[in-house]
Amino acid sequence: MNPQHQSLSLWPSAFDARPTIMKFGGTSVEDTAAFARVAAIIRQEQPRHPVVVVSAPAGVTDALLAAVKLALEQDTGAALDVLEPHFARYSEVAERLTGGASYGDFVKFLYAARERMVQAFETMCAYPGTVPPLRDEVVAYGERLAATLLAAVITEDGTPCQAVDARACIVTDDVYGRARPRWEETVTRTRATLHPVLAAGMIPVLGGFIGATLDGATTTLGRGGSDYSATLIGAALKAREVQIWTDVAGIYSADPRLVPEAHRLDNLTYGEATDLALYGAKVLHPRTIEPVERLKIPVSIRNSYDPEAGYSMITSDSGVLVGTILAVTHRAGMAAVHIRPSGAWRAAGALEELARTLNAHGVLVEHLAASRMGLTATVEDGDALQAARRDLSGVGEVHVTRDRALLCVVGNFGDDAMELHPTLGEVLTDFRVTPLLPHPSPHSRLFLMAESDAPWAVRRLHAQLVENSP
Ligand code: ADP
Ligand code: ASP
Ligand code: MG
Repeated sequence: MNPQHQSLSLWPSAFDARPTIMKFGGTSVEDTAAFARVAAIIRQEQPRHPVVVVSAPAGVTDALLAAVKLALEQDTGAALDVLEPHFARYSEVAERLTGGASYGDFVKFLYAARERMVQAFETMCAYPGTVPPLRDEVVAYGERLAATLLAAVITEDGTPCQAVDARACIVTDDVYGRARPRWEETVTRTRATLHPVLAAGMIPVLGGFIGATLDGATTTLGRGGSDYSATLIGAALKAREVQIWTDVAGIYSADPRLVPEAHRLDNLTYGEATDLALYGAKVLHPRTIEPVERLKIPVSIRNSYDPEAGYSMITSDSGVLVGTILAVTHRAGMAAVHIRPSGAWRAAGALEELARTLNAHGVLVEHLAASRMGLTATVEDGDALQAARRDLSGVGEVHVTRDRALLCVVGNFGDDAMELHPTLGEVLTDFRVTPLLPHPSPHSRLFLMAESDAPWAVRRLHAQLVENSP
């Protein structure tokens, strides 16, 4: 071997192993015992180069968002009242699980975060235009504090570990509250930031859910977005696996809180997991699979409260036979927008205008259908829809049906997009549902129904189709 090459290879300047991404959700870091449990799980993975992504402790993000609202509607005092118990939760973990300099550093950071939040609340009230970026900056403290604290806890027994600011890795656009990553920049910065840490034998710990614009303004990726952070970082680092650690041992055939008989799906495809996530399975953020699918990086879902309980593995091939129904899920909070023709009307032009108006107001559209008789859009309900509604009267006569839910049945339906599974068709005659066609997915069928009937429909479909599936 060339001696120069040999001596160069001794320098740990480049990192070429495939790391394991370990993401811990809010329920996995909800209190002192949970932090200790998670630190033990991470230390065990040390030989496989873990990169840790952590959410804010359960309830913290809700409290931060509520505090921003209270600061705007009442005053900073009311906002702080909501936050103090959560600051106390962080302090208690630090007091019990860290010591010496790292305890002191964390308490200083917590204090500085509180000061900065007070400043942000006051600026928002004085200058309403600053609310969207400052809201994201305030909310991001939930994850930033969690990452700093977890790194300190892991280090406590001498395990080499370092908190890394996720905003140095994930670059996004400036759609505050629902920012979209800029892929090329994210890859470059993630590698530049994390490779040296990994090459030095340290475990990096990053906050999930947060990023920054090219100008450095803090952004967030949408509720539940830490899963998405984990797979973005996993794809950028070409991870061997992304592990999502939560409070259930995998993806189940239905939400186990709604259907106690639900069972774990040991193997799922990227497509099946995406449809479950899109249509209501809260266990995964809807965009989680996007970054890793093309690179075929496996994603597993594991239980931090019971690491030996088994897990689900998401890959490109699950080996499920055609005709098998795997899971049922529903997504509440939807609305149907119907538009009837008025005046000179062309379905294609009206559809274009409907899509443009909904998009301009930031309304999330799940399904669009058009005919000469009119248009229907299935959308996420909320303030954005109410604002868009006023601008839609130019398109035609508008009628909105609220309190709808999407019902999604996931399985292997084969290749015929229009074909309903025969038993599925039979069971559904008991409910008032509208099939959303065409929905050209080989692994799911989608329906719209009254929100109040959806939990009952999920239980019935699970009992008759999933539990009876081959
Ligand atoms: P985390 O805080 O770890 O991100 P989440 O609360 O976001 O956890 O997601 C986990 C929860 O997702 C579970 O407690 C479970 O109730 C819910 N869930 C909904 N649908 C499913 C499903 N099909 N399989 C597993 N969990 C599900
Ligand atoms: N903490 C954020 C939320 O509650 C992100 C996450 O949990 O993934 O939405
Ligand atoms: Mg989650």
